[in-house]
Amino acid sequence: MLLLRISFLIIFLFEGNFCKAQSLDPVAAFPLEFGEKAMVHVKNICAFGERGDGTEAAKKTVDYIGNEFTKAGLEIEKDTFSYSAFEAKKIALAIDGKKIIAKQIILNPYKGNIRYKGSFLFFYPDSSLSRQMMQNMRGKIIVTKDPADYYSLSNRSPWVIIVLDKPDFDRVVRSKIPAGSHEINFNFSGKIRILQSVNVVGILKPTQPDSGEIILSAHWDSYNSAGADDNASGVATLIELARYFSLHKTELKTTLKFVSFGAEEKGTIGAVAYVDHHRNELKNCKLMFNIDGVSGLRDIYVDLTGKVENISPEKGVIREKLYFRNMALRGKPGNWFWIEEYPMASDVPKWLWLDVIDVCNAFNTKINQVSGIGSDHQAFALAGIPCTSITIDNGIETHTSADTPEKVHPEGMWIAGRIVAGVVAKIAKSEIAK
Ligand SMILES: [Zn+2]
Repeated sequence: MLLLRISFLIIFLFEGNFCKAQSLDPVAAFPLEFGEKAMVHVKNICAFGERGDGTEAAKKTVDYIGNEFTKAGLEIEKDTFSYSAFEAKKIALAIDGKKIIAKQIILNPYKGNIRYKGSFLFFYPDSSLSRQMMQNMRGKIIVTKDPADYYSLSNRSPWVIIVLDKPDFDRVVRSKIPAGSHEINFNFSGKIRILQSVNVVGILKPTQPDSGEIILSAHWDSYNSAGADDNASGVATLIELARYFSLHKTELKTTLKFVSFGAEEKGTIGAVAYVDHHRNELKNCKLMFNIDGVSGLRDIYVDLTGKVENISPEKGVIREKLYFRNMALRGKPGNWFWIEEYPMASDVPKWLWLDVIDVCNAFNTKINQVSGIGSDHQAFALAGIPCTSITIDNGIETHTSADTPEKVHPEGMWIAGRIVAGVVAKIAKSEIAK
């Protein structure tokens, strides 16, 4: 045991000191204590509580990230932006005269308050007839349960989708009321608030920067939970990457920007606002690497297979009409969610795919190559900026009270940190324009 400890200590000291001394090569050597250091940030940030805009927790988190970036020797900028958010004041639901609390309500609250009494349609997600049931949903109220696919149902333009917990749904369905005679009484009203949020930007400028920049990012807000995995783990990894790269500032050829977006949970609003505010610099953005939920030790997902699809012809400008630009698409109370067609894009050029694969092979790390990870990089893909995102599953349901620091694995942040560092170092050290 003593021998093991001494040998580990030697590796630890050698690695650490060597890391500092050694040139920027995350594949050759990456700080062992990275994960533990990141874990300190996870605990500190989660201790502030749920991070929704307008809360004390949000303010403390933004200050915390800014201070950590400053401590790492970065210049910081705080990009504020505002957006509309619907706040429900009255939600009342009864089916066949019995009051029920919905698990989730899918609708567009910005269309106005709802007072409705009348018929509705059931949708049985696990029935072989589900495809037929989706035929005439336009303008109707749909009552369903999980695992209904809200997105494909929303494509049928129903008025409202009400998702019940399974026991409630089964009880209503099994009641003696003849099919077609069920009645719903649904009231949903509230008001639109204007919320302020912030993108915290840490800038690491090399001594002789070229004209380009690389963005590393992780959103700081959380929804319905302390957000340990989603996304304190990403923010913690981002802060430790800022510290790591600032140790190697002299070897960088490109400016690195560490951006912690606000309002991701409300529909990547912070990322869209960032693109809108920084379109000139983004013309020279070589890469955006997003980190969202990396506290696990299970499957690693990297957004890699979408190739280059549906991107803006003008780099740095989102041409697509975004229904959620500056409007929150989810909120509480009522756990409502507004779904319309989200313009999916992908900007993974061959060189980026190759760089990520190379680095993961060098680490002997198996990844799942996927496309369409729902996070902030989507706004950058729409703007024609090469980008990807990493997630490491930890098996807990995000946006629930289960997402706590106890479930966070420091090793997950270490694995994600070195993959991101490996890819970024490849590009940030090279003179070659991509
Ligand atoms: Zn997230």
